[in-house]
Amino acid sequence: ENFLDDVEHYPVTGKHFDHEVRAEGMQRMDADGKPYPTKNGIHGSKVAIDFETCIADGACMDVCPVTLYEWLLNPGQMGTGNDKDITGDKDLYAKYRTDKCDPVRESDCIFCMACESVCPTRAIKITP
Ligand code: SF4
Ligand code: ZN
Repeated sequence: ENFLDDVEHYPVTGKHFDHEVRAEGMQRMDADGKPYPTKNGIHGSKVAIDFETCIADGACMDVCPVTLYEWLLNPGQMGTGNDKDITGDKDLYAKYRTDKCDPVRESDCIFCMACESVCPTRAIKITP
């Protein structure tokens, strides 16, 4: 059910800071077994973030004891300036906000699982 249950299943399509990116640029498809989860990719392996599911809630950043997350503004959409709430509607804002929480220092993870537990959209999978 969770696309992140088997992160290694997805092909590595790039590197970003200290982590691998998987399935970037791919569309969802059901062909063989699991569908590819996201055109924005999964960032990280041990700390894996499905960028299609991340709504930039920021809860992971608040709880991480080693502060390994940083904001990635509008990945793949630089210059759209979508960093301000122009809708006046909290839910609509969350839906269309395109910032992502990026595990830029993945190797610092101590596997406390706090971020995985707190993420409202289950966009995080920690694999010790
Ligand atoms: Fe940070 Fe803990 Fe999540 Fe690792 S499991 S990224 S240490 S909050
Ligand atoms: Zn990244």
